[in-house]
Amino acid sequence: MAKRKKISLYNIEVTDYAAEGKSIARQDGKVIFIENAVPGDVVDVFLKKNKKDWAEAYVTRIHQYSALRIAPFCKHFGICGGCQWQMLTYRQQLIYKQQQVGQQLKRIGKIELPEILPIAGVDNDRHYRNKMEYTFGNKRFIPREELDAMEGKEIPADHTGVAGFHAKGVFDKLVDIEECHLQSEPTNAIRLWIKEFARANDFSFYDIKAHTGFLRNIQLRICTTGEVMLNIILGEDDEEKRIALLENLAKQFPQITTILYTINTKWNDSIYDLQPQIYSGNGYVTEKLEDFEFRISPKSFFQTNSKQAERLYSITRDFANLTGNEIVYDLYCGTGSIGIFVSPLAKKVIGVEVIEDAVADAKENAALNKIQNADFFAGDVIKICDDAFFREHGKPDVIITDPPRIGMHEKLVIKLLEIAAPAIVYVSCNVATQARDIGLLSEKYSVEKIQPVDMFPHTHHIECVV
Ligand code: SAH
Repeated sequence: MAKRKKISLYNIEVTDYAAEGKSIARQDGKVIFIENAVPGDVVDVFLKKNKKDWAEAYVTRIHQYSALRIAPFCKHFGICGGCQWQMLTYRQQLIYKQQQVGQQLKRIGKIELPEILPIAGVDNDRHYRNKMEYTFGNKRFIPREELDAMEGKEIPADHTGVAGFHAKGVFDKLVDIEECHLQSEPTNAIRLWIKEFARANDFSFYDIKAHTGFLRNIQLRICTTGEVMLNIILGEDDEEKRIALLENLAKQFPQITTILYTINTKWNDSIYDLQPQIYSGNGYVTEKLEDFEFRISPKSFFQTNSKQAERLYSITRDFANLTGNEIVYDLYCGTGSIGIFVSPLAKKVIGVEVIEDAVADAKENAALNKIQNADFFAGDVIKICDDAFFREHGKPDVIITDPPRIGMHEKLVIKLLEIAAPAIVYVSCNVATQARDIGLLSEKYSVEKIQPVDMFPHTHHIECVV
């Protein structure tokens, strides 16, 4: 077959929102998925992928801006890949998310749907994340316009010590973030102070290509309880520099309740195989959802939007419709938060999760909340959830399942059909795979209630409870 040429299209009108942040235009029977465009825009595009019936494209020129567009509130918008939807009002974002849920469930799930309950939006679309990670590096990403304005002049020295995020699609350069709106203060103050302190003291910043440099990353948890945890990840085990940095930092920010540091001399950024060391405080923070407390260590998983996690879990609990007599399974339970949330209304809760540390956290969290009717098991759901397991722990009255983006393994879906619990509550962060799984489950189940929840304003991500 002849290879279709990569081509540009001119003056096309973007007509609808599709999915995953992409909008669409139609031309000569072909559907074109376009990044960073909004329905109503008239644009020129370059087709980076060109198939018979569809293409993927990016915008090369905007002729007419959609009436839906607003001015993004962040000065780093467009360069930082963080909040791709700031050009839409929050209301419009919610309209698209709501539509998307219906479309995916119908198109992929091919099932009868009740009316979808209105998406639970946020009260505050800024500072909604409890967890942020910033990267330090020695190369600043310089946007096109700025480079052009320099006209070949030498790049100034302050373009070395940088703290922020990787520029979209560029692995070795960072966007130097002055203000990020995703987490409340002191998030920006801490990042900027560390950057300035390191520059003033000639501490080196990580060079991702050469694999050298002292400052690598920081991870910050700021909880609704007011507790703040900072984990500084260092590329070199230099005690003198480390102590100077940590002492001054602790003095500067007495509101940080616990400071840790982690030495990472590996090529990759993951800290999961490393041991964070406590410098001050107890090494964890406590977050509160309703009256439940959760202990979060640097390596623990916890939903990043606490306010919306509370809503997500309370919707999940409502959908489970418990009376106190039910045996509830919490599959893909992570650190047990859903199971803990529903436990006062259940006879017994059984959680299953593949990451052993998360299961240890789940047990600790249950103990912390004096919950005695919940137990958690480590292992792959498709291995653990066999007939013997259900026999041992009791026939489920309700199964809550909250798989990762890839959805449930087909083997688990088949097992769930066999077990045939009276009710399943499916919590998902990817409606496409949720729709696929529910399509399979429709052999024995019908959909009773659907409610999307917005955990991540200004992004296209959707959480959905069915
Ligand atoms: N319900 C939790 C976590 C949901 S995220 C919460 O709300 O916090 C999905 C979880 O599924 C992750 O913790 C991941 O480690 C776990 N997981 C992924 N694949 C799994 C598998 N095959 N078996 C068991 N758990 C799995």
